[in-house]
Amino acid sequence: MTDPVDTGPYDTGPYDSGPYDVVIIGAGPAGLAAGLALVRARRRVLLVDSNRPRNAATLHAHGFITRDGISPLDLRRIGREEIESYPGGEFHSGLARSVSHVAEASGTGGRFTVATRGLRGERAREVRARAVLVATGLTETLPALPSIRAWYGTNLHSCIDCDGYEKSDAALALIGESADLAERALLLSQWSDDLIVFTNGVGEVSDRDEAALLARGIRVDRRRIADVVGDHGAMTGVQLEGGDVVPRTAGFVRPRWTPAIDFLDVPGLETDAEGLVTVDAGGRTSVPGLYAAGDATPPGPQQLLVAAGSGASAAAVMNRDLIGPL
Ligand SMILES: Cc1cc2nc3c(=O)[nH]c(=O)nc-3n(C[C@H](O)[C@H](O)[C@H](O)COP(=O)(O)OP(=O)(O)OC[C@H]3O[C@@H](n4cnc5c(N)ncnc54)[C@H](O)[C@@H]3O)c2cc1C
Repeated sequence: MTDPVDTGPYDTGPYDSGPYDVVIIGAGPAGLAAGLALVRARRRVLLVDSNRPRNAATLHAHGFITRDGISPLDLRRIGREEIESYPGGEFHSGLARSVSHVAEASGTGGRFTVATRGLRGERAREVRARAVLVATGLTETLPALPSIRAWYGTNLHSCIDCDGYEKSDAALALIGESADLAERALLLSQWSDDLIVFTNGVGEVSDRDEAALLARGIRVDRRRIADVVGDHGAMTGVQLEGGDVVPRTAGFVRPRWTPAIDFLDVPGLETDAEGLVTVDAGGRTSVPGLYAAGDATPPGPQQLLVAAGSGASAAAVMNRDLIGPL
């Protein structure tokens, strides 16, 4: 059965006539910062969000000036309230299903149709937009260990810059299956010198890098991992296949990241080797009128403040582009 589609209203007032100036897909820090800047530029903006932020696993977000330690949910709530206090700001609980480009003759750089599946009781919508901002972030896949999700966000983290401080001097594990483990271990050594790198028999650490890490007191364990274990909510170690438990009280994991852009149906959209949406310094993609910001753009996973900054920067460029040439 197809969802009912709500295509309007478009003609009920100064902020409700014609297409949206901008539809922002994704209301994390990138989308929210862009939304605030755009409603303050008197743009009519629809923010479409599925409310599945990657950082939902954590209770405290760090490093956002004036908000260090805030709950990520509160950060999003405050951001939404700020936008909704302006006449041009509107939110839609929905999952963008498609964004298609409709060629347009005017100089504003494109016209789009955005179709959504409604969530949390909201109806599906199909709306028009003069410009679209993709701020959908990343989805992540953790190493396939039975209990890893249970520790993620509390004892195990992925963002070293964000959560390293809280793990200062702890007996740390770095778990990953990628080729950047040595570099990540080096960074992590700023917060603890009691660190073991676990490759799960997959992650790549060259002999040269292993020797360099060992010189800093960091050991590499290449055995397969059975699980991350603990007791009463406290992580106690990394259990290896065969039964050995290496005592560890906390750690960092290196997920695989995939940009959440499957819904984009726009020919000519350029992505990089990681699948991230390629943008210029102002967030313009290779498709006129389509912009992107935040973690879905290179270099991928960053921090809240960085994502917000890129959203604000893209918003300034979008607003100017929408005005058109002199
Ligand atoms: C566990 C964890 C802890 C972290 N802790 C910190 C920290 O302490 N400090 C810090 O600075 N950074 C932290 N980060 C990193 C930070 O969360 C991200 O860098 C930041 O959220 C990226 O912002 P974004 O707006 O690009 O994407 P996100 O915040 O991921 O937001 C993307 C939004 O898009 C929505 N979306 C996705 N697809 C669709 C779709 N098709 N339709 C509609 N909506 C869609 C999602 O539901 C989500 O709400 C952490 C990350 C993780 C995973």
